[in-house]
Amino acid sequence: MLVSVDQDRCCSSGQCVLTAPTVFDQSDEDGYVQLLQARPGPALAAEVRLAAALCPGRAITVSEAVGDPGADTGADTGSGSVGEPA
Ligand code: SF4
Repeated sequence: MLVSVDQDRCCSSGQCVLTAPTVFDQSDEDGYVQLLQARPGPALAAEVRLAAALCPGRAITVSEAVGDPGADTGADTGSGSVGEPA
C-alpha cells in the first residue's frame, strides 16, 4: 500500500488523524495533514482506506504498490463462491 496526501486539498478537519493516528498527523502550525507513513503495513490497510474515504477534501490517495505482500488487488483467486452457478 502506498499513501500520498495533497496538502492543497486538505481542510484540516482531522478525520484522518482520528481514523489512522499512526499514519496521519496534523501540523501544529496550520493543521494541515502530515503523512507519517507512506507505506503502512497490511494491518493498517483498513483504517487507511477508511481515512481516505472519510476525508472531506479528498486529499488522501491510496494505491497498491506492485509486489506489496499486503496488497489487496481484488483479483479473483479462482476459489469461487459456495452456491455460485458454474
Ligand atoms: S481528513 Fe483530509 S482534510 Fe481532514 S486533515 Fe486529514 S487530509 Fe486533511
